[in-house]
Amino acid sequence: MNYAEFYRQSITDPETFWKEQASRIDWHQPFGKVRDYSNPPFAKWFVGGKTNLCHNAVDRWVASQPDAAALIAISTETETEKTYTFRELHAEVNRMAAIMLSLGVTRGDRVLIYMPMIAEAVFAMLACARIGAIHSVVFGGFASNSLATRIDDATPKLIVSADAGSRGGKAIAYKPLLDEAIELAGHKPQRVLLVDRKLMPMNLVAGRDTDYASERERYLDAQVPVVWLESNEPSYILYTSGTTGKPKGVQRDVGGYAVALAASMRHIYCGKPGETYFCTSDIGWVVGHSYIVYGPLIAGMATIMYEGLPTRPDGGVWWSIVDKYKVSRMFSSPTAIRVLKKQPPELMRKYDLSSLQALYLAGEPLDEPTSAWIAGALGVPIIDNYWQTETGWPILSIARGLDQRATRLGSPGVPMYGYNVKIINESTGEECGASQKGVLAIEGPLPPGCMQTIYGDDERFVKTYWSNFPQRLAYSTFDWGIRDADGYYFILGRTDDVINVAGHRLGTREIEESIASHPNIAEVAVVGIADQLKGQIAVAFAIPKNVDAAETPESRKALEAEVMATVDHQLGAVARPARVYFVGQLPKTRSGKLLRRSIQALCEGRDAGDLTTIEDPQSLQQIRQALAG
Ligand code: AMP
Repeated sequence: MNYAEFYRQSITDPETFWKEQASRIDWHQPFGKVRDYSNPPFAKWFVGGKTNLCHNAVDRWVASQPDAAALIAISTETETEKTYTFRELHAEVNRMAAIMLSLGVTRGDRVLIYMPMIAEAVFAMLACARIGAIHSVVFGGFASNSLATRIDDATPKLIVSADAGSRGGKAIAYKPLLDEAIELAGHKPQRVLLVDRKLMPMNLVAGRDTDYASERERYLDAQVPVVWLESNEPSYILYTSGTTGKPKGVQRDVGGYAVALAASMRHIYCGKPGETYFCTSDIGWVVGHSYIVYGPLIAGMATIMYEGLPTRPDGGVWWSIVDKYKVSRMFSSPTAIRVLKKQPPELMRKYDLSSLQALYLAGEPLDEPTSAWIAGALGVPIIDNYWQTETGWPILSIARGLDQRATRLGSPGVPMYGYNVKIINESTGEECGASQKGVLAIEGPLPPGCMQTIYGDDERFVKTYWSNFPQRLAYSTFDWGIRDADGYYFILGRTDDVINVAGHRLGTREIEESIASHPNIAEVAVVGIADQLKGQIAVAFAIPKNVDAAETPESRKALEAEVMATVDHQLGAVARPARVYFVGQLPKTRSGKLLRRSIQALCEGRDAGDLTTIEDPQSLQQIRQALAG
């Protein structure tokens, strides 16, 4: 079947289409209805079917290829490397699941996972899936306030964490941040399970904290039966930033997600059992959930989990991994490739990369020079793929399993099967024609694998994502897009105040709230501005309460460092603005709305744009002066 037909069937006859895709996973009990969209925009997939993500990722392969590699955990931080076969992974997951049960976790309970990129983090995710607990992985780069917000929203019974992570050879504390977050949070988890990597001393709180290694010893032979879940029960929550300061808990199901991943591994990523997949993301992000942990394992592949920098011990480290483990499919981000592009070319040429068949890049726009460079250097297809935390798998790409069409520089590709993609005019709600810019939207229902709702807040789900167009119930991606005459789509940036730094989504509101908590900051605006390496960087313009504190270059520098330290402490270094400028006034509309886009335009050396609603044009002059230094 050619791709055009495949896609058409997914849209016109989704029931037949997805029923067929559902045969790619094991079902304990067959489903009745393929799709229930009787209560739009809430979609249910494979209703009544019972399955389990851990079974499909692990147990299923223990039966057919027990000694094949499943998880390859590599850390250039601790100089360790360990391969777990499917049999060994199964044993570790059973141990972790038994520990969780002993700590009182049962089906439907939330378990928050705040961990570095170590194998135990994968054991914990899969153990939750096994016993029907809902995991919520929080990116290790987030600090206490971010963590506290998520603890309060997910109300976990158990938190799994570690003493420390490591970056560039330096230990990074996790436990003290976790203790502080629990202190800050209104909800108190009953138990905390800690992996002691011996990177930093760690105090255990009596009655609450438990050491993982000693518990593991007690459950070495544990056999924990899989809990069969109805396809629409939640599997996990993953928080993502939006336009408010409060992150949204993207909630995903079990059956739909398993089917979507299995299908994507075949049609888009083209991975086969026995091959090795290397995704360089982090388990704290959606790419890590779908394509470090669940996707490759569901496809029976070995998956590589890497802790460390792409440039240490040298810029050839990832290529050495491709060579050593005969990686067939690699998944990374444009920022990482831009970093590698700066490395001496011989570091790449040193290795045998002939096992590699394609490189997938996602998370941020792929610029033409980066794409052209890496395509030339590797000599394999470079496949851009556009998607979001909310969707869990690609919306736009080229399904190489079925579709040999050429990639087009600057375009992530065409709509993936199941996604009824539309470019919509935001004022009229009408569909745009070819080459007309509009909002990239998806006609409901969303296909399997996408978010079910915002955890605990159905109303916010409808209001945030489904209420953006007049006369039309469609899901908004909050990205501007355009389709060319041949059907290729192009992404033209966000429609909201979300910024994308090195492929990581950050909400400007969250950063502003953190900066405003500094005792000497009265008001602040954060914008994302174009950056050659990271795509975008965050920059802040703040009004000090005490102007003397920002009078001289020295005092401004000192205050800037304090503000950055505040963000580091509360949200984590990942959210730290690259610069904090001090001004006396911020550009706002007469109704008091920040003119972030004008500030951004000035920062990028562009015209400030439409200023008909500005309250005081003088405020823009202040931004210009601050930038001029
Ligand atoms: P996140 O949910 O953090 O993965 O961020 C999703 C957002 O990243 C999208 O809404 C886009 O703005 C951007 N994005 C992701 N992948 C791509 C891509 N391939 N090309 C352009 N933008 C992308």
